[in-house]
Amino acid sequence: MADLRDLYQELILEHSKAPRNYRQLAGADHKAEGFNPLCGDHFTVYLKMDGDSIQDIAFQGSGCAISKASASMMTQSIKGKTKEQAKELFEHFHRTVTGTANGDGSDLGKLTVFAGVSEFPTRVKCATLAWHTLQAALEGSQESVSTE
Ligand code: ZN
Repeated sequence: MADLRDLYQELILEHSKAPRNYRQLAGADHKAEGFNPLCGDHFTVYLKMDGDSIQDIAFQGSGCAISKASASMMTQSIKGKTKEQAKELFEHFHRTVTGTANGDGSDLGKLTVFAGVSEFPTRVKCATLAWHTLQAALEGSQESVSTE
């Protein structure tokens, strides 16, 4: 069993204390709300699309360090990407946090700091909540999503 402290990398702590793009997005044309009842994480993700590209993204809410840092870093990674690229990145991220990635994760960039989450199955939902919420926002669904 890995040490829980290994999970809280400096970058994760830093993002959880000072999340990026943490605000309501003026002029957002897509939005979704996500819950992780197991941990109590709760976020809203806002998107402003330009055709098929994510022109701007922001989020608000509350949650544990992992969920907040993941949401923060997701907004940085996703901005300017197309819907398709965002989906691919999520799939890759999901494989990394569930420990099923077979590549070296190189194109995940700094998101690879979440690879340690695979040692803590209950934390996978924290790490992926914002991504599931993003997915719902991209699909244009106004319904809230839950990791359960
Ligand atoms: Zn959590």
